[in-house]
Amino acid sequence: MKSVRVFGQKGVAVDKLPDPQPHGDFVVVKVMASAISGTERRYYDGSTPDPWAGARENGGHEAAGVVWKVARPGPVREGDRVALFGAYRHCGRCRACLSGRWLFCQDESAPPQAAGYHAQYVTIRSDFCLPLPDEVSFEAGALLAAPFGAAFRSLGRTELTALDRVLVMGQGPLGLAVTLLCRFLGAQVIAADTNDYRLACARACDATATVNPSAGAFMDAIAGFTRGAGVEVAIDCTGSADGRLACLEAVGRGGRVGLLGIAEGLQLDAAQAGQLFAKEIALSASWYVDPAQVLTVADLVVRGLEPARIITHRFPIEAAAQAFATGFGGEAGKVVILPWGA
Ligand SMILES: [Zn+2]
Repeated sequence: MKSVRVFGQKGVAVDKLPDPQPHGDFVVVKVMASAISGTERRYYDGSTPDPWAGARENGGHEAAGVVWKVARPGPVREGDRVALFGAYRHCGRCRACLSGRWLFCQDESAPPQAAGYHAQYVTIRSDFCLPLPDEVSFEAGALLAAPFGAAFRSLGRTELTALDRVLVMGQGPLGLAVTLLCRFLGAQVIAADTNDYRLACARACDATATVNPSAGAFMDAIAGFTRGAGVEVAIDCTGSADGRLACLEAVGRGGRVGLLGIAEGLQLDAAQAGQLFAKEIALSASWYVDPAQVLTVADLVVRGLEPARIITHRFPIEAAAQAFATGFGGEAGKVVILPWGA
């Protein structure tokens, strides 16, 4: 099979490897679509060593496909369409796992799911294979857990309603998912990014209004959008300290701010902290999603949400180097690798 290898300093190769075989609880999935995540940038440019180096070829963790081979009968069967969950491990037995919050599992002895999904086949523990409805395409399936599940979780934590006006800071793939999901759920969105290409993507994802903070007058745009009240909800998808502070500034009294994704810190000076209290801002942080929420997002897709609208580029696996260069080149929304072609 063909498998992508990402090795830092923008090195990307496509290797020929033996087809993997199922064993125990691990099944083999034929990957039909595999999206590049923003979190893979650190492995691509080598700024952070891959914690799974040696255990996997690449950091791909957003994919969907068909179960190809199983080692023994179980709830996951050959031929099942599946969305692959991207968290690394869960034991299934602790209080967190039993309540569905796999991300909070503290059992380090659970076998890890470490495979990178940018390959024609991937060996994966069967419980990481979530059911994918027939109505949901593989491309949409690849985006269910992240970025759309992560977006859904963050919006749930901010208690979003259709009445809300939402600032979405950052219109990379994650921000575009938040924008599209907010609009699908009936809220108004002002989308912000310093990159005009991405603002065009935001408009294509139904943003009600857009603003480029580097052009100045950012708070005037927020005031104009909300008749001076400030937004009810702000979601930071930039991961930057500036983006997060802009969210705190843009919400009105009683506003809710969601910090989405793992990134830089947040430091408040005395005046900024004062705003937090004076406006009684509700602050929440999140970075991924629980498996049951992925099924809920799949339901939304059946009802008309179109995750593939954030995809701007598709590449065959042979062009993986071009896929990464495009994805991290600044002029792209979501980039998807199609391991078996279009
Ligand atoms: Zn657990």
